Amino acid sequence: MAVLPIITAPHPVLAARAREVEADEFGEDLDRLTRDMAETMYAAPGVGLAAPQVEDGRRVVVIDSSSGEERGSRLFRMVNPVITKKSKETIDWQETCLSVPDLEVWVKRHKYITVEWQDPLTGEKREQDFEEYEAVICQHEFDHLQGTVLLDRVSSFKRGRWIRKQKKLQAPAYAK
Ligand SMILES: [Zn+2]
Repeated sequence: MAVLPIITAPHPVLAARAREVEADEFGEDLDRLTRDMAETMYAAPGVGLAAPQVEDGRRVVVIDSSSGEERGSRLFRMVNPVITKKSKETIDWQETCLSVPDLEVWVKRHKYITVEWQDPLTGEKREQDFEEYEAVICQHEFDHLQGTVLLDRVSSFKRGRWIRKQKKLQAPAYAK
């Protein structure tokens, strides 16, 4: 397994709609990608990661809400995930994103969702209900597959300020 580099916004792969994984792509390579993504998520550390964040424009997501000694116990590796049911009831959550460092944004999400996806190795269908924190994580990661990041949810003023700050942080020391 390998820790993959995480790209940050603004980036064309993060802004694009990810494509469906096709039948002939399921197997060991795709399974390895999801394991590498999980390792990357644990190393960051984070609770979710979408393939576009590691510059792979396919509909692949990993999530794991568990922490401490339980870490690893709530890992889901999802290919072509789709929300099949969602509650009217919503929940407000202050979200962060590995691809948009140092930004926290309040987002309104469905409180309960049902997700269907395919297993990366076999392509078999899976289905699971998620609530509250895990439902929020899923919806955040699925946004990435639509090319939406937290930066798109703030005012243009706030977005401009964030981009200028990141440029400063990334610039070589002599240019600061
Ligand atoms: Zn994110």
